[in-house]
Amino acid sequence: MPVTGGCRCGACRYSLDYPAIPVIYACHCRDCQTATGGGFVLQAMIPEACLSVTGERVDRSAPNSRGAVTTQVYCTQCLTRLYSTNTGRPGIVLVRAGTLDNSDTIVPAVHMWASRRQPWIGLSSDAEAYDGAIPVDRIMQVFAPNFA
Ligand SMILES: [Zn+2]
Ligand SMILES: [Zn+2]
Repeated sequence: MPVTGGCRCGACRYSLDYPAIPVIYACHCRDCQTATGGGFVLQAMIPEACLSVTGERVDRSAPNSRGAVTTQVYCTQCLTRLYSTNTGRPGIVLVRAGTLDNSDTIVPAVHMWASRRQPWIGLSSDAEAYDGAIPVDRIMQVFAPNFA
């Protein structure tokens, strides 16, 4: 059974070509707090080919601080952000994992920008956490199962 998810209103639905929830990270940076209106974001980095979406979507693009253009994709009805792409890493999407149907079973593999997390969010002592972004070589290791 594929992993499924969708927006708040139900107009957009998606499935991920994985037998179980793929590797997910949490980002506690201030940008993600602002973008979500919450304490952090949960995202799955996967090949675009593993994502199938139905329903009407709208996207918005903007340059990021590293000179790439990120495109955020939303449901046209309820404006839930479903996923994003980045010209700096073609063929890869970041699925907003809080939109998964089984989002209550997510355990993030990695926490980034833990130094910026809300002070009331405790991380277990064995959690893999970085004060800033995940080192690039470690990203490749952590998310390798999603690309196998
Ligand atoms: Zn919707
Ligand atoms: Zn972030």
